[in-house]
Amino acid sequence: MRTPVIAGNWKMYKTVNEALEYFTSFREKGEAEGVETVLCAPFVALPALVEAAKGSRIGIGAQNMHWEEEGAFTGEVGPSMLNAVGVPYVVIGHSERRTYFAETDEAVNKKTQSAISHDLVPIVCVGETLEEKEADRTQEVVREQVVKALAGLSSDEVTQVVLAYEPVWAIGSGKSATAEDAEEVIRFVRKTVADQYDQQVANDIRILYGGSVKPGNIDSFLEQPDIDGALVGGASLDADSFARLVEAAA
Ligand code: PGA
Repeated sequence: MRTPVIAGNWKMYKTVNEALEYFTSFREKGEAEGVETVLCAPFVALPALVEAAKGSRIGIGAQNMHWEEEGAFTGEVGPSMLNAVGVPYVVIGHSERRTYFAETDEAVNKKTQSAISHDLVPIVCVGETLEEKEADRTQEVVREQVVKALAGLSSDEVTQVVLAYEPVWAIGSGKSATAEDAEEVIRFVRKTVADQYDQQVANDIRILYGGSVKPGNIDSFLEQPDIDGALVGGASLDADSFARLVEAAA
């Protein structure tokens, strides 16, 4: 049995004070049993959120990190820095990072390996653009991203990864994939993992859907046998709406 994950991705929203205010109202509602709840916040809010989340079942995550331990990389944050703050999760390879910050599959792979070796749970994002979808290349693109992201990881390490299938055209657009289409791609991702590793690893790894998930459509995704939860942008910014998503998965 795979424990569902509901992860909020605040992107570049919320100051430290706004984050804490949110958390105060979210904490009780977000404590549902049987679901792994994660809030991925901007770096500067992480120490305060980790402190506020102590003793709760809510995990805090970063939205990116560098793969190197330390060094002359102006503006970057490394894995040990996240460890020192006590952050357990990190989003890797979000399409906004791939698109606006030129993050390559190779960088995604280095970050994923680095996260695993630092005991951080990487939430690794893959997904096709509208152009690729219209050219019928979804499976090809997603397979390549998955294979490259996981390259070099052992079976044990791969089962610690959380994958998120996020079609780029569905992110922040209000236009989600249908649950059936998302299930089809996610089942294909699971098969890709089975081909690369084995069926047991494929059965164990959690794979989320992301892209315009909201309280009104979450149930349709969670009903699918291969979809293990959601990575949520817009609808995670409001504590009540995010709590409804967590409740749906509990
Ligand atoms: P959205 O974003 O829920 O606002 O579509 C999802 C994401 O970027 O992870």
